[in-house]
Amino acid sequence: MFLSANKVAYVIFHLKQHVSTKALDKDNYIVLNENDELLSNIKNKIIFLLSEASVPDSAFVSFMGRNIPVLFPFSGSQQELFRFDENGNLIFGFDFLSSVFYLLSGQQEMEVSQRDRYGRFPFAYSLQCRLGCVHLPLVNYYMEMLVQGLESFATENSLPFRRKRLFDNLGFVLSHDVDRISFHHPFRILFKVKQFLGLAPLHYSRSKTIKLIFEGIIFRINPFRKEDPWWNFDWIVALEKRLGIRSTFFFLKQEDRFDNSLYKFHFKKIKNLIKELKSGGFEVGLHGTMRSVADRENLVKQKNDLSKILGESPVGIRQHYLRFFQPETFTIQESAGLKYDTSLGFAEQDGYRNGYCYPFHPYDFEKDRMMKIWEIPLVMMEVSVLQYRREGFEPLKKSVSHYIEEAKKFGGLFSLLWHNCRLSEYEYNGVTVFYETLLEEIMEENPKVLTGKQLMEEREEFNA
Ligand SMILES: [Zn+2]
Repeated sequence: MFLSANKVAYVIFHLKQHVSTKALDKDNYIVLNENDELLSNIKNKIIFLLSEASVPDSAFVSFMGRNIPVLFPFSGSQQELFRFDENGNLIFGFDFLSSVFYLLSGQQEMEVSQRDRYGRFPFAYSLQCRLGCVHLPLVNYYMEMLVQGLESFATENSLPFRRKRLFDNLGFVLSHDVDRISFHHPFRILFKVKQFLGLAPLHYSRSKTIKLIFEGIIFRINPFRKEDPWWNFDWIVALEKRLGIRSTFFFLKQEDRFDNSLYKFHFKKIKNLIKELKSGGFEVGLHGTMRSVADRENLVKQKNDLSKILGESPVGIRQHYLRFFQPETFTIQESAGLKYDTSLGFAEQDGYRNGYCYPFHPYDFEKDRMMKIWEIPLVMMEVSVLQYRREGFEPLKKSVSHYIEEAKKFGGLFSLLWHNCRLSEYEYNGVTVFYETLLEEIMEENPKVLTGKQLMEEREEFNA
């Protein structure tokens, strides 16, 4: 695949998240096409060959106990990871530059035109689905293959070489999208009436729907009512404080009809909650509305509204429904002054949408440049497993253990999104005990726990 000089630099930038070595100084490596003739005056260089293939195909390599598909194979026969020629050149046997670039930059999302009803890139059309590898951070495996080659080159040429890991063990980033705060909201009760009358599709059986309508009405008129089942922030905060976790809460503005939230940032309850979260060391971020993915003015307005309540600018964003247009939404977020986004997971499937368990920069294809904004990849959202995949708690727990193992291999991160509206016993029997145990078990793995904002601060030191 042809890569511009900026694209090559983009891959090298991210490779330097894994290694610090003079071997990666510009005069130590060259990039050639696979059929270019290797001139005899090229000596003691690292040679990255670019495959002639323009569409991704894969060659499987057994590495670190896994079968790893490497994209853009060379037209010649299967090669080893790297070799030295008689001139002391290190030649990589696979096109790692294109493979890393393709996944990290999200190029596939520009090449595949299918979208779901919310305009999202569907997992079913992804390369990861086709290759059955969404559960593996492929880019991290490629980086490790590259690092092993660089280590040999540095040893041969007595150059300084040091491996880098973002975390000694692993990082854990927990977040909550505050989509809904009122189960018994009058609009929701009315909607259930509509459902019961057959004017809208049912969520529950007819008998459960009528039961919920009555319970809702009783809740609304009861002057001594307890908190709404979705107003569970005291419980979430207390649990996280007990376990030494600080998470990020993304707040969503009411806008248009029912696609967004049913609250506004200046509601007294929300204001107080934001204040309490901030003083408790939690992060408050922006949950971008459906419209904001393609509307800069709209996003800036939301950010300003939240800033007024928060007393400072939020640095992080996640788009509601993980609705995201690559790379347009990044451009909008960046120009609105946000430091990081954390929307990039597949809505319907947990795993690695960009194949990476480290924060990374997106790519602006129009201007051929690396963007400034960072992406903190979203590895798992509870909705993907429990709703889209219709699997239960135990498969979810198993997947979490797997992602933690992968993160540990590379000193990377595991990120988890859990909605507050899926933490009520009223709706989901056993969910609170399950969630509590899940967090306890994650904490037993000794992760470094960070909010997105803290991760951005740590990373600045790390990349310096
Ligand atoms: Zn949302």
